[in-house]
Amino acid sequence: MLGLDSLAKKVFGTANDRKIRASMRTVEAVNALEPAMKALTDAQLRARTAEFRERLAQGATLDDILPEVFATVREAARRALGLRPFDVQIVGALVLHQGNIAEMKTGEGKTLVATLPVYLNALTGKGVHVVTVNDYLARRDTEWMGKVYHFLGMTTGVIVPGLDDNGRRAAYACDITYGTNNEFGFDYLRDNMKYRLEDMVQRGHHYGIVDEVDSILIDEARTPLIISGPIDDQSDLYVKIDEVIRELDDPAYYEIDEKQRTVTLSDEGNEVVEQKLIERGLLPEGGSLYDPTSITQVHHVNQALRAHRLFARDKDYIVKSDKVIIIDEFTGRMMEGRRYSEGLHQALEAKEGVTIQPENVTLASITFQNYFRLYRKLAGMTGTALTEADEFMSIYGLDVVEVPTNMPLIRVDDHDQVFRTVEEKLGAIVEAIQDGRARGQPILVGTTSIEKSEQLAARLKNLKVPHNVLNARYHEQEAQIIADAGVPGAVTIATNMAGRGTDIQLGGNVEMRVLDETKDIEDGERIAGIRARIEAELAEAKRQVIEAGGLWVIGTERHESRRVDNQLRGRSGRQGDPGRSTFYLSLQDDLMRIFGSDRLDSMLQRLGLEQGEAIIHPWVNKAIERAQGKVEARNFDIRKNLLKFDDVMNDQRKAIFEQRRDIMAAEDLFETVRDMRHAVIDELVARYIPKRAYADQWETGELEEAVQATLGLALPVRAWAEEEGVDDEQIRERLYEATDTAYAEKEAAIDAQNGAGTIRRIEKSLLLQILDQHWREHLVRLDHLRSVIGFRGYAQRDPLNEYKSEAFALFEGLLSQLRTDVTRQLGVLRPMTPEEIEERQRLIAEAQARMQARADAAMREKVEAEAVAQRPAPAVALGAGGGTATAELDAANPETWGKVGRNAPCPCGSGRKYKHCHGRLS
Ligand code: ADP
Ligand code: MG
Repeated sequence: MLGLDSLAKKVFGTANDRKIRASMRTVEAVNALEPAMKALTDAQLRARTAEFRERLAQGATLDDILPEVFATVREAARRALGLRPFDVQIVGALVLHQGNIAEMKTGEGKTLVATLPVYLNALTGKGVHVVTVNDYLARRDTEWMGKVYHFLGMTTGVIVPGLDDNGRRAAYACDITYGTNNEFGFDYLRDNMKYRLEDMVQRGHHYGIVDEVDSILIDEARTPLIISGPIDDQSDLYVKIDEVIRELDDPAYYEIDEKQRTVTLSDEGNEVVEQKLIERGLLPEGGSLYDPTSITQVHHVNQALRAHRLFARDKDYIVKSDKVIIIDEFTGRMMEGRRYSEGLHQALEAKEGVTIQPENVTLASITFQNYFRLYRKLAGMTGTALTEADEFMSIYGLDVVEVPTNMPLIRVDDHDQVFRTVEEKLGAIVEAIQDGRARGQPILVGTTSIEKSEQLAARLKNLKVPHNVLNARYHEQEAQIIADAGVPGAVTIATNMAGRGTDIQLGGNVEMRVLDETKDIEDGERIAGIRARIEAELAEAKRQVIEAGGLWVIGTERHESRRVDNQLRGRSGRQGDPGRSTFYLSLQDDLMRIFGSDRLDSMLQRLGLEQGEAIIHPWVNKAIERAQGKVEARNFDIRKNLLKFDDVMNDQRKAIFEQRRDIMAAEDLFETVRDMRHAVIDELVARYIPKRAYADQWETGELEEAVQATLGLALPVRAWAEEEGVDDEQIRERLYEATDTAYAEKEAAIDAQNGAGTIRRIEKSLLLQILDQHWREHLVRLDHLRSVIGFRGYAQRDPLNEYKSEAFALFEGLLSQLRTDVTRQLGVLRPMTPEEIEERQRLIAEAQARMQARADAAMREKVEAEAVAQRPAPAVALGAGGGTATAELDAANPETWGKVGRNAPCPCGSGRKYKHCHGRLS
């Protein structure tokens, strides 16, 4: 019997059906144009690009010309690649153009689908980005689909690791740019560390299509991109705070929760610490740890407290050759080179009296969510998005549209087989593999980790069963192996990530072979000929495989998320092929142990489960799916929460980056600088001559000193105040006037000596430099704030709101500090000799080179980190109360640098060559 819901859907159709039906009208329009397109010569077809551009210039919209454009690209693809986009591919293309997610199963040809909206949107000339999950795919897709774009006279570029800034700029200048999410994201961060507009490589975020969108926007959403580097030496601070904590001898001063591994100051302890900090000059007289400005102190106090009360020498860490080395909690092994984050390691070093290594801090960071939200229009495609449709909608405003397959899906999905132990399960899997192989059926085995892949491989090796193992380390090699995974009797073991984006075709992958053999051929006819030959060769193999039942996908465990399981399944049954999928589970699997409900247990008892036997029952599938649903919801909550915190920083980052860009673009910052100076004067006057205060309450002496210190001018403020009838307003006016005049004189003198416009250049570089410096310090403070919020006893208060309001206060402080610093530095500026100017520019250039070197080192490390980690496991920052996840890129840790060229800049960011710095011999 049908439920009400499905009954209604039967009558009215689902929302999805209606969307698909609506787009069929466009498909019909495209189809109707096909004969006319076929009649055009290659040159005529290519000429259409200019025609379309012209019509857009005349005021036509993209939607107006869409059917003609799609018909043109379809014909171009047919001629350039020998592939004619199917009707369902046109539907997918429309979904992408509309800025939504097209869910299209594996093997439906999403790579080709993208060419239609990409070309259409690239006609505007504003650049279109196509985002792939790895560099191999970025290259492959540029090369492969480039044939269509080039055929139509468009330019393509690809950004890959190792490309220098000129190469990047050129790639972004193309009509279409392919690259990975990491490359795009890092380029954005690095661009915003540049000092001249012309050094930037990106030219805006107009339209982006993200391939395997679930992997990038969901799986990788928990690890932000981070550029980090060492900050100035703060050993003194750590030592002083360590002394303070050392003196906290009364247990009443703090509260320890052994289970949660937390320690907090009691109210009493708090007061004592405040007093001690004031004595040491770490807090201002009368200051409190509850002041928003004390975040950094609170943070370090917390870390020192943890170092002393929660971390035990020889249990959690050991001290060896002047170093604190972490001991792995589970294995008991020393983890040399690994460091606790957020100042905890430094606190331990201070506690043990060893050399305090510089702290590594975030110089720039962004989550993928926030990077991709920069795009004016964003679209995505993947085989598996529906289970996460809510998340795509609520976070990105992306609708998921399920596009029907070109051919009906006939894959058989078996019920799960549940065993008691892992051992029994593995035995059954090995048996299944041998059985399938004997029948000539290709088998793809999916595991959840590299270790598990290797365990299974070892078993197969013992039994002399030939097989391939993939683990997402070498994308290119893997693509080759995956391409052969459909050959009769092939056994391929892979983690979920492995070989993504490459299609498993029964009998063997036609496309990979065609691509391989037609690399340098542009001629469509010849390509078609070669394709025909390869197709014939592989047809026989394919026939055998079909007879054996197609590709058999074997899952060795359920993943936390149904989506990932579906990805694995989806490898089989492409384009109407036969296929089968089976998941083998055991009660000892992580998911079953942690999340399997009691109901599952009692259910299994009721069904009875014998040694070596499997339970196969639809109930079990339902129960497991429910467990997965729960985990998915929890993970979504974590991501949502993370994003809420990140949004606060994101708004500030956007504001700062915009300011930076404006400053770089500005011809003349005279007014900006003058306004800052006036604002500083306003602040000073308001502080020392409060509104409505009597004249005898005026602190004119202090004001005079402050004017001298901040504005660099000795002015008779006290004398002015003695004059009859002078009020704060007039003093302010006189200060404006005096400083404006002094500045004009200084400008004239400096320009006379060094040429016109000198002071304008100084203003600009100074402003950028000071802005960057404050922004970096601000980022550190935000990190601290985030962890402090977790520690503070915010009874009944919402941590997010606390974070928001304090972060805002800090940001206001940043702006005020920025104004003061710029004003002061320009105030003390005196006419300089050309040599001094040169020296100054050199220093600035050095600082800039240092930043750049850090950013570059970070890029390299990210790439290396990716090569080892098959999946970016969120590294929970150990020092934080809340779990911030970071992919730490460590310019401070030479052990993570790999091989560095002797003449390359040292990755530590010193600006010196490696051979003169960390790479010095002896
Ligand atoms: P997806 O990314 O959707 O899994 P791919 O883009 O990797 O799929 O394409 C899978 C295979 O389908 C490729 O070998 C490609 O050549 C083939 N293909 C795509 N579109 C067509 C088409 N219109 N006609 C024939 N083959 C196609
Ligand atoms: Mg793909």
